[in-house]
Amino acid sequence: MTDIKSLDLNELKEYMKGIGEAPFRAGQLYDWMHVKMARSFDEMTNLSKNLREKLKNECSFVSLGIERMQESKIDGTRKYLFSLADGNLIESVFMKYKFGNSVCVSSQVGCRMGCRFCASTIDGVERNLEPSEILDQIYAISRDTGEKISRIVVMGSGEPLDNYDNVLKFVKLLSDKNGLNIGQRNITVSTCGIVPNIDRLSDEKLQINLAISLHASNQEKRQQLMPIANKYSIDELIEACKRYFDRTGRQLTFEYSLVGGVNDFDEDADELSQLLSGLNCVVNLIPVNPIKERDFVESTKERVRDFQKRLEKRNINATIRREMGRDIDGACGQLRRRHLSGELKL
Ligand code: SAH
Repeated sequence: MTDIKSLDLNELKEYMKGIGEAPFRAGQLYDWMHVKMARSFDEMTNLSKNLREKLKNECSFVSLGIERMQESKIDGTRKYLFSLADGNLIESVFMKYKFGNSVCVSSQVGCRMGCRFCASTIDGVERNLEPSEILDQIYAISRDTGEKISRIVVMGSGEPLDNYDNVLKFVKLLSDKNGLNIGQRNITVSTCGIVPNIDRLSDEKLQINLAISLHASNQEKRQQLMPIANKYSIDELIEACKRYFDRTGRQLTFEYSLVGGVNDFDEDADELSQLLSGLNCVVNLIPVNPIKERDFVESTKERVRDFQKRLEKRNINATIRREMGRDIDGACGQLRRRHLSGELKL
């Protein structure tokens, strides 16, 4: 069955022709799906009943079910647990900022990258998400909150560059002027550093923001925290980042989760500023969020600030991420795929 919400407008026109329908119907259908964010064919009242029935029989219509929504008492962040058609569960997060609302979407069910501090990878990866399933996280949240969503970060469960084609299609659909039309400059894709796919991405002529999860200033420390470093060394990664900047002209963001007593020493800051010197980038410091399976502790507030100052002194732009939704396990690295029946309080 054709996954109709994953088709771009041209593909949809071809599809409609293929089933013997007028191509202009594709525009109406696309508008219902990607602008009005309809939940089913039945809502599409300017399509004939016959056509709606035909579509129901010939294609699948992805629409996520809200299994649970938790709202943070601290900052109003909302974490959604969604069910997919095959029964898998994924999480997404809605964040309110002064300058607009953001949604953090998942790109896979689980993750196979194995980063030591992250909950999303604990049970491995189950499968990739389709473009429609990534999109519908945003549509469902938009419908549920009634709020305008202006920024998207692909930083939920999963490694987006391990699901390259679907994530790329998602970005194109999301930023399509006939769809939700979210500017690519308001879309951020975060990767643990799959070097060949960073190179591929640099040739796609996109305006998106690329964030690199670095978390260490040298190869040895990075290997301890992130298994991907065994495949692509930190030097290869930085070289790929330089090529990315040269080809796209887009400033890079490096995410650095500060783990107390592991990667938060003065020497780490100094080594990091050397590693990144000359690169057009900003470092985003994140005090590591605790997860129950690991005993990593976050750096103190003072340590985080000192680390930032040390980077800035060496001409590296550094910001401290305001963590949102920690009380609902909605912060970075706290999203997970397994919701044991006991844990899931409906
Ligand atoms: N796989 C992608 C995107 C998902 S993770 C990536 O690796 O970038 C989003 C960000 O949260 C990454 O920078 C990740 O390293 C970070 N992160 C994971 N676990 C964390 C934790 N426990 N505390 C703080 N940040 C964490």
